[in-house]
Amino acid sequence: MNKALYNGVKIKVIRSLKRKKTISARLVGEVLELRVPRFLPLFKVNYYAALFAKKFAKKESKRSDSFLQKRARLLSGKYLKKRLPGYEIAWSSRQTKIFGICNKKTKSIKISARLKRAPSWVIDYVVLHELAHLLYSGHGKDFWGAVTKYPKTDLAKVFLRGVAFGKA
Ligand SMILES: [Zn+2]
Repeated sequence: MNKALYNGVKIKVIRSLKRKKTISARLVGEVLELRVPRFLPLFKVNYYAALFAKKFAKKESKRSDSFLQKRARLLSGKYLKKRLPGYEIAWSSRQTKIFGICNKKTKSIKISARLKRAPSWVIDYVVLHELAHLLYSGHGKDFWGAVTKYPKTDLAKVFLRGVAFGKA
């Protein structure tokens, strides 16, 4: 089992005894796990690793600030019934320890760029979490009352714990 960087994507190749022909990729935390047949030649492993990494990098590049703004509009309309103040939301590559931060004073939300590769339902949770902080400062009953309307809240928290753990 080795981990390598392809196109900026961390890939771990797992050679599987059971696999004959199929190749699959799954994102675990920040690492893309590539399962390949046990005896696939190395040049082919490299080929597929580069291919999957390219696909992921492409997906990531679509995740711009305007992507976040769109998600925020949609999520606030759906889950936060109160009117939000004017705010800005953007990715930040400076957030390495936390996934999102909301400055209630300046009405500015930053989402960690680490999450660009996360599934969209995880990004949605973090965006909604930070949007809710525009209304509620702490993590009180009102805060969670609003955020848990998002059905994948618990799943997203588990996913993020995994990412945090993988980083440690
Ligand atoms: Zn919070």
